[in-house]
Amino acid sequence: MAASVCIVGAGVTGLCACKHLVQHGVECVVLEAQEGVGGVWRNTFASTKLQTPRDAFQFSDYLWPKGTPRLPTHFQVMDYLTAYARHFRVLERILFGCTVVKVCCLDRWPPTPASPKIRANANWAVCVRRGDQSDAEWLFFEYLVMSVGHYGDVPKFPSFPESKGPAAFGGKVLHSLDYSKLDEGASKELLSAKRVVVVGSRKSALDLVMEAANCNRGDDGQPAMLLYRTPHWVIANHNFYGVPMAYMTSRVSQLLVPQPGTDKNTLHGLISAIILSPLRWAISKAMEHYLLTTLPLVEHDFVPTQKVFEELKSCKLTLLPERFFERAKAGHITLQRTSDHWGFVEDGIVLPSGDKLKADVVVLCTGYEGEEKLKSLLGMSFHDLLQQRDGSIPLYRGVLPPRVPHLAVLGFQESYSNLFTAEMGARWTAHWIAGKVAVPSVEKMEKEAQRWLLNTKPFVTSNDKTCVNSTILGLADEMCKDMGWNPRRKKSLLQELFAPYGNMDYKD
Ligand SMILES: Cc1cc2nc3c(=O)[nH]c(=O)nc-3n(C[C@H](O)[C@H](O)[C@H](O)COP(=O)(O)OP(=O)(O)OC[C@H]3O[C@@H](n4cnc5c(N)ncnc54)[C@H](O)[C@@H]3O)c2cc1C
Repeated sequence: MAASVCIVGAGVTGLCACKHLVQHGVECVVLEAQEGVGGVWRNTFASTKLQTPRDAFQFSDYLWPKGTPRLPTHFQVMDYLTAYARHFRVLERILFGCTVVKVCCLDRWPPTPASPKIRANANWAVCVRRGDQSDAEWLFFEYLVMSVGHYGDVPKFPSFPESKGPAAFGGKVLHSLDYSKLDEGASKELLSAKRVVVVGSRKSALDLVMEAANCNRGDDGQPAMLLYRTPHWVIANHNFYGVPMAYMTSRVSQLLVPQPGTDKNTLHGLISAIILSPLRWAISKAMEHYLLTTLPLVEHDFVPTQKVFEELKSCKLTLLPERFFERAKAGHITLQRTSDHWGFVEDGIVLPSGDKLKADVVVLCTGYEGEEKLKSLLGMSFHDLLQQRDGSIPLYRGVLPPRVPHLAVLGFQESYSNLFTAEMGARWTAHWIAGKVAVPSVEKMEKEAQRWLLNTKPFVTSNDKTCVNSTILGLADEMCKDMGWNPRRKKSLLQELFAPYGNMDYKD
């Protein structure tokens, strides 16, 4: 089998895609803009650790070294990914410092007349720029695998009232994307002895406000402030009442949530509406009670209005940095809620109430526009084929945009362990490209992709993200069936029903 495949990106997803394609004897090359593997893990805050426990963020065929802590540091994640790439000889297939500027599907949008002769059997032309070279070059492939990542590269900024944007501020404003590119010395220099305001309430914001607090201990120390609009449920560890969260990926737990295609006319739909719905409510309340009684959320005005169950299903539950609320209690971190209409003034931030917060440095941990990156590479003509009017990108099996042939999009399905979803997607894609998985007609793929997307919709507020926490097992089942595997991966019925599912259950 000699299909030629271009994988864009050498983060977790791209590495994994390459490993699986090579395993199927498929010829492939990975184009990576940076000078090394790892994607988001290369440039991140000094204090960033994995928030998914190590065992859930583990390749099925390559284990973490013995003695690695349960929540490895980003350096350890980088070492692990590099070792994986070396072990499976993925490293030698990567062209580093090679930025993909644009891709063209030859069926529909041929490149400019000046471009070189198109290679036989090619479906995609990929325009790349290597290192400092000013001239772009075209490469040709049969298949394209986009694994450019969801986080990083394209920052998302809040909008500000007129004349109250960052230009009005006399201090320094930066996005967490730029902060994460600073080395440890530069980030310390930026934050030390400064009044720092961190905007946001997700993982990066919590990590960063903690870093700012750590840089500001001592006599000239200033409390670091977290300015947030919507608090999300946070956890201090991965269990509720002693039950590990990993159990949410057991078959019994997944039954609690309506699965794609279960409407009220089906038995599961009926059971879900009549029995499971109150049960979900009760479980969610019990989880909230646990968090409210174990963490000082009320005291710090950090109680979300959303149900914890919804946050879990939409991948928004966030692990707190160690001793976060201890630092808040000691006054090293302050938490300030705001509505949308805050803005900048010369010496800080002005809230909608008119209150002012003095600041020297403001870091915006306001997220990324992952889908914009994908769309800009694919070009305008693809937008209608890829993205729906509501902004969502339906993907068959979480991988194939039904109307764009010979293209796989990996890493756009979020879950409790993004490595798990990346590996499942990479494995399925390799089978598909190797001709070992048949896909139905475009119309059927669209219908199926839509069915799965609708299922996650009630839990997903931001349209660009597809969190599959609630359907991860169902999706894995479908992929297994496509690949001719038995979807029941456990050794006994008891385990099949109650034991958590993870990567290791899908070892080839
Ligand atoms: C701070 C942080 C903490 C996280 N913690 C967790 C966690 O605990 N658990 C979890 O499951 N997930 C976590 N994630 C999510 C994380 O994104 C995934 O785990 C995973 O690393 C994503 O890998 P990826 O390969 O899909 O994307 P990325 O890591 O973003 O890799 C994409 C790669 O594509 C390259 N690229 C992009 N555009 C181009 C181009 N035009 N040309 C060439 N190359 C290009 C980039 O340089 C990059 O190397 C975290 C993310 C962040 C930012």
